[in-house]
Amino acid sequence: MANLIVGVTGGIGSGKSAVMRAFEELGIVAEDADVMARVVVKPGKPALKAIAAHFGPEAISPDGSLNRPALRQLIFSDADAKQWLENLLHPLINQELEERLAAATSPYALLVSPLLFETGQNRLVDRVLVVDVPEAVQLERASQRDGGDTEQIRRIIASQMNRQERLDRADEVLDNSGDLSAMLEQVERLHQQYLEMSRR
Ligand code: ADP
Repeated sequence: MANLIVGVTGGIGSGKSAVMRAFEELGIVAEDADVMARVVVKPGKPALKAIAAHFGPEAISPDGSLNRPALRQLIFSDADAKQWLENLLHPLINQELEERLAAATSPYALLVSPLLFETGQNRLVDRVLVVDVPEAVQLERASQRDGGDTEQIRRIIASQMNRQERLDRADEVLDNSGDLSAMLEQVERLHQQYLEMSRR
C-alpha cells in the first residue's frame, strides 16, 4: 500500500503527462484525474443519467455515450450549468481517485491533475509537486501537441490558476523548461526523495 500520495499539477503543456510516464517507468502507480473524468460518465454510470435528465437528450450521442462537444456548448456561456456539472462530477471523480489511490501497490503513488486545487483534489494528497515552465514554453509545446490553435491554448491558460499562485502552493517544483533528459534527472531525484519519505 502507498504510504505517501503526491499530487502532480501544472498548467496545460507544462509536461504533467510526460512526468507521469517517467514515474510510471520507475514502477510508481499514477492516477490521472482527466482519465477519471471520463470513467465516471461512462454509459451505465449514474452521472450520465443525471446529465441526460438535466440537459436533455442532446447531451448524449446516438451510441449512448456522453456527447462532449454538445455538453461543452451547453455549458459554454452558462455559469450555472457549468457549476451544476462540476458539483455533480467533482465528488464522483474524487471518490474514484481516492479508491484507486488507496489500492495503489507502489511505496508512494501519484495523483496527476491539471485542476488539483480548483477541484479540492489537493485534500487527497500529502504533498504537491508542481511541473513548471514559462508561459511561452507552455504555449509552444501545447499547441505543437494539439495541432496549433494557440488562441485556444491561451484561453485555457487564462482559465487555469496562474503560475505564481501554483508555485506558492508547491512542496516541490520540477522545472521542465529544459530538455527531456533534464526532466528525467529531476524525476529520478524526486523519486529517491519520495521513496525516502514513504519509509518514514
Ligand atoms: P500536460 O500533460 O501538462 O498538458 P504534456 O506532458 O502533454 O503536458 O507535454 C506537452 C508536450 O510537451 C508534449 O508533446 C510532450 O511530449 C512535450 N514535452 C514535455 N516535456 C518536455 C521537455 N522537457 N522537452 C521537450 N518536450 C517536452
